Amino acid sequence: MWIRVHFKPGVMEYWSTGVVDSRGRNHVLIPLKPLLQYSISYLGGLAMKSYRKELFFKVPTRRALINITPEVNECLRESGIKEGLVLVNAMHITASVFINDDESGLHHDYEVWLEKLAPHEPVSQYRHNVGEDNADAHMKRQIMGREVVVAISDGKLDFGTWEQIFYGEFDGRRKKRVLVKIIGE
Ligand code: ZN
Repeated sequence: MWIRVHFKPGVMEYWSTGVVDSRGRNHVLIPLKPLLQYSISYLGGLAMKSYRKELFFKVPTRRALINITPEVNECLRESGIKEGLVLVNAMHITASVFINDDESGLHHDYEVWLEKLAPHEPVSQYRHNVGEDNADAHMKRQIMGREVVVAISDGKLDFGTWEQIFYGEFDGRRKKRVLVKIIGE
């Protein structure tokens, strides 16, 4: 099926598919099926859902790595979104969100590696430590990253085999936040 769209004389004359009818009006024929498909996808876009939640952490130690995949899964369940994207980011510049393996040996290796790259002590080695002592935490966070984005497929986090989401705390002992933002349908 086709829909015929009329235009005032002159408006569409430059368009090679425009046809002048017996009353001198220009018209074009638009196929109905693609028009409906486009309209439905447009309305689907308008119906996109959005979800936002903050997760709170108060780590009792200066540094810790915490698997937050269960919390993100809970957010996904609450959102009701089946297809889309989830963004998870630390809301502090001394903490990270990253994806890797939930394996204690690896977590120990991260701790040793990060301490080599940006040792906490002596705090006097850093210019940032004027009134605070967390320059190393800023640097550790920079290496481990601010955020992750994970695809949502069929209502699940679309992970590779060993992927898990972690909160990396590098200057704990105070309340801190992680943002979870989910968009999709
Ligand atoms: Zn600082």
